[in-house]
Amino acid sequence: MIRNEFRNIHPKRTCSKIYKNHSSYKEFLAKDFNYRCGYCDDDSLLLGGPHNFHIDHFAPKKKFPELKSEYSNLVYSCPYCNQYKSDDWISDKAHISIVDNRGYIDPCDSGYHNNFYRNKKGEIIPNTKVGVYMYKKLKLYLKRHSILWKITKVILLMKQIRPMLENCGENTEVNDKLKNIYVGLSMQLDDFRDYLMGELKYD
Ligand SMILES: [Zn+2]
Repeated sequence: MIRNEFRNIHPKRTCSKIYKNHSSYKEFLAKDFNYRCGYCDDDSLLLGGPHNFHIDHFAPKKKFPELKSEYSNLVYSCPYCNQYKSDDWISDKAHISIVDNRGYIDPCDSGYHNNFYRNKKGEIIPNTKVGVYMYKKLKLYLKRHSILWKITKVILLMKQIRPMLENCGENTEVNDKLKNIYVGLSMQLDDFRDYLMGELKYD
């Protein structure tokens, strides 16, 4: 069974500025989260950029209004994770996010990525009980997450091909290595085409 890392780059919170309105943190948050949703790792740069992403309050602002503009409580989030998480919180204290293996792990927690992995299709699979809770609540099984993972793979393959194509010249036969990359690329792209013709739409 193939187990891919859930994510390769990890978010951190480095902003030390103080703002009254949490939306003022958007650009700092996007950068700190590498422009990716803290929960599902979807790349916002493939989805129109930060404009289309939300600021999630890890401990919900409805229950803990005092943390509404607290940077350490903010998560750069895709609209899906933000919407599905909503005001769900397992305790009546902001600092207790997990009770009896139910609840949420802060995406900036250094062990966050250990709660999930990706199978060979790029689907997110929970690895722990808390991971299962988050997987169900945030609907991390949505097809869009694995499709975006595949798009990223295609882009990485294309980056490998570019300099090789440049060095080949017009009349040079494509070497075996390049052919293999092309096969991998076309396989990923076929799945992407299926997606584009399917029911799922970005919104
Ligand atoms: Zn997400």
